[in-house]
Amino acid sequence: MKKYKVFCYQCGKEYQDQWWLCPACGGSLEVAYAQTLDTPQFPTNIFIESLGEGNTPLIRLSILSKKYFCDLWAKCEMQNPTGSFKDRGSVIEIAKALELGMSGIVCASTGNMAASLAAYATRIGLRCIVVIPVKTPISKLQQAVICGAELIKVQGAYDECVKVAKKIAQQKKYFLCGDYLLRREGQKTLGWELANSCFDAFIIPVGNGNIGLAVAKGISEFIREKNLPQFVGVQSTQVNPLEKAWVTRTEIFPVKNRNTIASACNVGNPLDGAFTLDVVKKTRGCFVAATDKEILTSQDFLAKNEGLYVEATAASTLAGFIKIRKQFRNKKVVLILTGSGLKERK
Ligand SMILES: [Zn+2]
Repeated sequence: MKKYKVFCYQCGKEYQDQWWLCPACGGSLEVAYAQTLDTPQFPTNIFIESLGEGNTPLIRLSILSKKYFCDLWAKCEMQNPTGSFKDRGSVIEIAKALELGMSGIVCASTGNMAASLAAYATRIGLRCIVVIPVKTPISKLQQAVICGAELIKVQGAYDECVKVAKKIAQQKKYFLCGDYLLRREGQKTLGWELANSCFDAFIIPVGNGNIGLAVAKGISEFIREKNLPQFVGVQSTQVNPLEKAWVTRTEIFPVKNRNTIASACNVGNPLDGAFTLDVVKKTRGCFVAATDKEILTSQDFLAKNEGLYVEATAASTLAGFIKIRKQFRNKKVVLILTGSGLKERK
């Protein structure tokens, strides 16, 4: 018996060798496992050596808790090997590329994924091409380059990079990595790590929606549906297709990419958009949007008060929380601090 099945969350079609989006309807693909186990399962037959990803610290934000009359915590994902949560997904994607006998991988990235995949690929001798927006912070690019990745810079934002990455994967027969189901499955370990902590909500930046879904899935594999914590997604007011759809209760209309300080949220047409809206609804969560000014103030505030220097995208969680803090009075809330501030040094 196969230990898992891959299917489209939207149309239900089952697949054998699809790891991206549903070829029939474009929906997000999902994995269901034949058995329930007490450790996370992954849709791969082999594993590669770890760089030590995961098991990041969960720390209490005492000063902010007092200030906002709640029990506020931070999951410090910037303490992963390459400085962001992406490492949890990279280890699974690279394992699949190896399992399929690929000689290289390619991905579109806003920066963190490029740095992460480059590190994991070079360790097992896979070539790595990363397609990035020309405006990606130089420090994030240096991380990828020093690990031997080939950079392709695209005039335009992340959504353009996705198209170029797909083309390169076809031409070179490289494995296409990105915010698809393998990455989501790898990242669900974050949810497993949080599931025991009995909190009311988690607040997370949303670009494609992949990491938020991963956290929700990890938690749901561990605890019952009625006890799921609320999934609160934060977007930038500059690029907010999901927040807009949530507030106006309409379908998702892709928005044009614009400059935002939260560079990882600069996704105008989210790959997991509809899936994310559904899961946020299921957990009785919500979406909130923050301005660049609010995000920068929060970044400064986290550093000066709690000693945590995170990237602007990660600080958007605090900016989002501050806007809706009244609904979390006396509740236990976790901010998912996705990446390190050191990555954005000018
Ligand atoms: Zn489908």
